[in-house]
Amino acid sequence: MTTCDIAIIGAGPYGLSAAAHLRGVKGLEVRVFGEPMAFWQRNMPAGMFLRSNWTATQIACPWEALTLEAYQNAAGDRFSTPVPVDRFVRYGLWYQRNAVSDLDQRKVMRVERDPAGFQIFLEDGEECRSRRVIVAVGIGAFAWCPPVFRDLPTSVASHTSVHRDFSRFAGKQVVIVGSGQSALESGALLHEGGAVVEIIARSHQIHWLQGRLSRTLHHRLGAVTRRLLYAPTDVGPAGLSQLMARPNLLKRLPRGLRDKLWNRAVRPAGARWLVERLRDVPMRLDSSIVSVAQVGACVKVRLDDGSERTVDHVLLGTGYRVDISKYGFLTPALVQSISCANGYPRLKEGLETSVSGLHIIGAPAAWSFGPLMQFVSGARYASRALMRAIIEKN
Ligand SMILES: Cc1cc2nc3c(=O)[nH]c(=O)nc-3n(C[C@H](O)[C@H](O)[C@H](O)COP(=O)(O)OP(=O)(O)OC[C@H]3O[C@@H](n4cnc5c(N)ncnc54)[C@H](O)[C@@H]3O)c2cc1C
Repeated sequence: MTTCDIAIIGAGPYGLSAAAHLRGVKGLEVRVFGEPMAFWQRNMPAGMFLRSNWTATQIACPWEALTLEAYQNAAGDRFSTPVPVDRFVRYGLWYQRNAVSDLDQRKVMRVERDPAGFQIFLEDGEECRSRRVIVAVGIGAFAWCPPVFRDLPTSVASHTSVHRDFSRFAGKQVVIVGSGQSALESGALLHEGGAVVEIIARSHQIHWLQGRLSRTLHHRLGAVTRRLLYAPTDVGPAGLSQLMARPNLLKRLPRGLRDKLWNRAVRPAGARWLVERLRDVPMRLDSSIVSVAQVGACVKVRLDDGSERTVDHVLLGTGYRVDISKYGFLTPALVQSISCANGYPRLKEGLETSVSGLHIIGAPAAWSFGPLMQFVSGARYASRALMRAIIEKN
């Protein structure tokens, strides 16, 4: 059995950034497990663009060398915003080769506590012991499927996260549920790929980002005003963006207010560049699907206004709901020892759970550190906070 001081599970932006930071701490043996950028490669549609801006798309690196610009120069790969997902994946893989060249791509199947820390079981049966474990496995396990759709087979209803390639829907009728970026961008891609699409959402209106006010604040009032109102992390509207970029400050606010600000900062919304692409896609707002039934190879959906349509597929752009008990590799005993609120772990300094030595970073950290943790740009805060806490305790 091998041993290490820190085992990082997950090699997406958070796991890679944490590894790059912790590898700089002298005397620490850090191992990193997981397939690099797997969620971005497998669970997002080809042709997608990132919604975050240029600075917020950088994966934080302690020596500031592994930037998007450095990647472009090294690879001769030119692009700008919005960043295409395949370029972001290539950037992430380049980051991994430079910062974590000895990445162990095996999947972690189980993590148990043991007297010296944790025991980690890998997919090929090998075991490893580590004093600390940092969980950085993202939101893939939390794809949310509303109850009304749960009994339908995946041939007629599926979550956006299971699709990489929408080409099989060419010529098909597809209802998309949701009004966030994922639902809207899937709508645009399906429409452009020859599907007949309708978007159905409960919200009264679609919130489009970069509206007139935001464009004025960004471009007309000058760089100083822009910097005062918007943090480079790019989470939340003018003003709120600065607060969201400071999790330590946000933590001091009363819980109720934090939750309100969280909802406002990351409400379902679509990037402005989707407006034109969705011009010919019908949207039924203020509507819910109340019942569904499979009809042969199709699915009949009934809305709350009594109207019905029979389509080939229902695509659920219904987002993700954090519930760490869905991380299958954490044993039920371990999950039970983690103090949680609504499925989110309650984290202390250094993003440590109530189980000493067990840290969780990325979206599950949002209950404790705010919505910044749901985005690539939050990896800088998370990695630095981890590093500080670990150096202190070592
Ligand atoms: C459609 C869509 C669009 C998005 N667009 C943006 C955007 O524009 N900007 C932005 O900032 N954020 C965006 N996000 C959010 C994005 O998912 C997160 O910002 C980012 O992926 C968080 O990185 P992560 O490292 O926490 O998780 P992930 O990127 O999901 O990485 C998790 C890693 O863990 C590994 N893993 C999982 N289970 C195991 C296991 N058992 N053993 C070993 N390894 C494991 C996987 O291989 C994977 O590589 C988007 C999300 C979606 C769904």
